Amino acid sequence: MPLSDRRAVVVGGPRAIASVCEQFEQLGCAAVACQSISRSLALVDTDVVVQVIEPLCRANPFELHQALGKVGYRGVLHVAGNMDARLLHGVALHAEQCGLNVCREPLVLPCESQALMTQCEALPATPASDTIMTTPPPRYRDLAGAIQAGHIKPWYQPLIRASDMRMTRVEVLARWIDANGHTRFPPAQFIVMAEACGLIDDILQSMIQQALTDLAPMIHQRHLSGMSINLSMANLHRANLADTLCEMVARHGLTPEQLTLEITENAVHAAEPAMLACLTRLRLAGFPVAIDDFGTGLSGLSQLRKIPFTELKIDRSFTQHIHLNGVHDAICRGAISMANDLGMNVVAEGIEACEEGDRMREMGVTDLQGFYYARPAPIASLYPRSDEHRAVPANIVERL
Ligand code: C2E
Ligand code: CA
Ligand code: CA
Repeated sequence: MPLSDRRAVVVGGPRAIASVCEQFEQLGCAAVACQSISRSLALVDTDVVVQVIEPLCRANPFELHQALGKVGYRGVLHVAGNMDARLLHGVALHAEQCGLNVCREPLVLPCESQALMTQCEALPATPASDTIMTTPPPRYRDLAGAIQAGHIKPWYQPLIRASDMRMTRVEVLARWIDANGHTRFPPAQFIVMAEACGLIDDILQSMIQQALTDLAPMIHQRHLSGMSINLSMANLHRANLADTLCEMVARHGLTPEQLTLEITENAVHAAEPAMLACLTRLRLAGFPVAIDDFGTGLSGLSQLRKIPFTELKIDRSFTQHIHLNGVHDAICRGAISMANDLGMNVVAEGIEACEEGDRMREMGVTDLQGFYYARPAPIASLYPRSDEHRAVPANIVERL
């Protein structure tokens, strides 16, 4: 969105905000300077709040986050200041914890007008749809009925092999599609509910069954090398999970190596010994196991000792704007080097821009995944019927 179409308010001490406002004005954006929190709250219909942090300022920057959180501000908060980017990241993290939609890249001041423009134009016009939960949560009987009726369907997001930029695998993502073909609840909402009310095994079973039916032909024809599916911690309660999954893949003429199981770093952290044993049994049976959302969870490094993971998926909060963020660049380089030493694949998730993908490739990741290449889609869009034998799905062809 062009900067001139944005409505911005710059909050902070008088000296710092004057120069930022001036820069905004030079770039054609009428920014309003604001020194008090109460005044900034009267302006919450703006698209962007730029919060300028000053080291010795008496104002408490965290009060603004609490106040904006309380009034349900839905625009973007952009943290800025003339200090170490990591300090600004700390401030931004607090804002995120208050439920705000925070720009991942704090603005280190002073900054070139061009950099300011690039960063601000890249901000979402409205909060990302997957962060809004406007509908009331589903009820148990709705979800149970939807599983029974086959309304929980697999959608597929390609993983692009970095060495030759070909789609070699897909991640299976659950979607609740109603009888009219509309998506009803986001997975973040119904998966949590399924975990809590004992329906998560039914979802896993149904997802794998449908995905194997859709994808086994592509794997047999060598258009794909395999697929990845998400496991919840609650799925690991079933001691016979490895046997069940082995039977399912065998029924479609596939082997366990062709089904990667993804489990989040947080789930591994919270897992009881019996669940870790279940995960290790899955590895022994030959299923590759990926640690998902790496970097967002608790004590990430210690999780790597618990299970011989085969793959590390770097969370999108690190890969987004990686080309502009020295701190994330350093963290990713470290994670990739460690994963390489441990013989693991590394997937960079959440790639939304060409520059992000290029940087992650330079760093040596094995695969790339993100909206830039392809969004999750039903099987019919991934492989249109008339064009079934393409090695690359229609919706990513023009990017590669
Ligand atoms: P995840 O496993 O980390 O899956 C990736 C999520 O990031 C997906 O959200 C995908 O649509 C989104 N994504 C992919 N590329 C981009 C990008 O470039 N930008 C942005 N902003 N987002 C991107 P989705 O499908 O809404 O799923 C959310 C989470 O729900 C998944 O996160 C996974 O943890 C969980 N989930 C989804 N399906 C299943 C399932 O069948 N079983 C279980 N247990 N969990 C599932
Ligand atoms: Ca995943
Ligand atoms: Ca992930």
